[in-house]
Amino acid sequence: MAEPFVGGEYVEVTGMGRISVVDPASGEEVDTVPLCGDEEVDRAVESAREALAGWQGMPASRRGEILAEAARAVMERRDELAPLLTAEQGKPLREARIEIRRFVLTLEHYAGLAKNIRGGYVPDLDEGAYGMILRRPLGVVGAIVPWNFPTTLLGNKLGPALITGNAVVAKPAETTPLTTLRIAGIMHEAGLPAGVFNVVTGDGPTTGQALVEHPLVRKVAFTGSTPVGRKLAALAAGELKRATLELGGSDPMIVCDDADLDRAASAASVGRFFNCGQACLAVKRLYVFESVAEELVEKLVGKVKKLRVGPGTEEGVMIGPLHTPRQRELVEGQVEDAVSSGAEVLAGGKRPDGREKGNFYEPTLLLEPSHDSRVAMEEVFGPALPIWKVSDLDEAIERANSSVYGLGSSIWTRDLDRATEAAERIEAGYTWINSPQIVYDELPFGGWKQSGYGKEHGIEALEYYTETKSVVVRRSS
Ligand code: NAD
Repeated sequence: MAEPFVGGEYVEVTGMGRISVVDPASGEEVDTVPLCGDEEVDRAVESAREALAGWQGMPASRRGEILAEAARAVMERRDELAPLLTAEQGKPLREARIEIRRFVLTLEHYAGLAKNIRGGYVPDLDEGAYGMILRRPLGVVGAIVPWNFPTTLLGNKLGPALITGNAVVAKPAETTPLTTLRIAGIMHEAGLPAGVFNVVTGDGPTTGQALVEHPLVRKVAFTGSTPVGRKLAALAAGELKRATLELGGSDPMIVCDDADLDRAASAASVGRFFNCGQACLAVKRLYVFESVAEELVEKLVGKVKKLRVGPGTEEGVMIGPLHTPRQRELVEGQVEDAVSSGAEVLAGGKRPDGREKGNFYEPTLLLEPSHDSRVAMEEVFGPALPIWKVSDLDEAIERANSSVYGLGSSIWTRDLDRATEAAERIEAGYTWINSPQIVYDELPFGGWKQSGYGKEHGIEALEYYTETKSVVVRRSS
């Protein structure tokens, strides 16, 4: 039985019942965690608050050393953490190992920025007066994380929050709390002071909401769906709390007639089907110039038909199960709707034969669903890719921008002018040009439109975990 991590130890919680954590590949219970209520959330937030003075009081470079050491300790335990992540999330072991490494790299990145937390100095404000701009941590940060990348998305918050001197109370998704809990213990053993990083377990409406509403929580760092993000934005606004909202997406990929079609097909396949399509930055709509559509589609179908579906623990499996039965039903409904709107199924479109257990679904390619079908209008959070032919760049960009979302986007072309035009005109927080959808710690990341607001990654993220204060200093004579 796993327990919340508060004040440097795992604490037993009784009273509100327990939540079962289930393996998406088998439907069997992996472990249970308690449903934390107001009392437990309060205890975790208090413990974070108590830790603030000591954590903020140490030199930033020391915080950096501690964070780097804690990150190293997590990396050393990767072989133990990756199977746990696969068991609770469903992703193939190889992807779980990549995810743990990404978590570590992000923490190391922010540990390395310890000496770059800057304020400002403004001379000669007045006769005998100058100004300083201080940069101070916010205090206790509530970090709410979804189930698709439970550790990477935690690292995106933990890194900038901790290095700038905040303390964190994290709430992982109720279906994927186990790796996060284990990581919290490892980081503490490696030297992260008690109370600096706490983890409470439970669902959104009970535990998550208690965290957002807690008066001592100064900032809400949220990654999740747009409907929940909207709700949390309203709650945070009620108390005028800071919020960073990393929400849903429906990322377009544009493939022009001069593109390297082999590389574009690979990027579309990996970009759509990594993590069984359950990535905010997945390629979710493909627009290809008519003249190369047949060739691109043929290459893509060839790649997709080779993707092996199965439990994440099986050697050679590239597509694990969807995370929950509900998630699979959602995608099935969207595919059915696309087919009834006129789409041709080029690959997949059904549950795989011979797999009774687990939430498996075949990687699916859909040609020309209608532009008002669900796959065009909604976020498709699973292994199905709709493809449309377009006549030119204008049409492609217009279609790309027709979504309410604006998270990522990509274009494949050898023409620099076209690429630049697309990067300028597509309404999204990221554009990859002739590149797979890799997120770099060096570059700020965050959505436009209904994909949210605020940035993670980059030195820019530090701004979202600090306040500035202006100070005027006047000489006495
Ligand atoms: P979700 O919004 O249902 O849940 C996310 C987290 O919020 C979970 O921990 C959940 O328990 C919590 N939560 C739910 N209701 C809450 C409430 N009322 N108060 C407080 N907390 C609450 O999202 P999901 O289905 O778990 O995740 C998938 C979504 O996340 C997709 O839309 C995906 O695109 C998005 N996502 C976005 C990014 C990004 O960086 N923009 C990254 C990954 C995932």
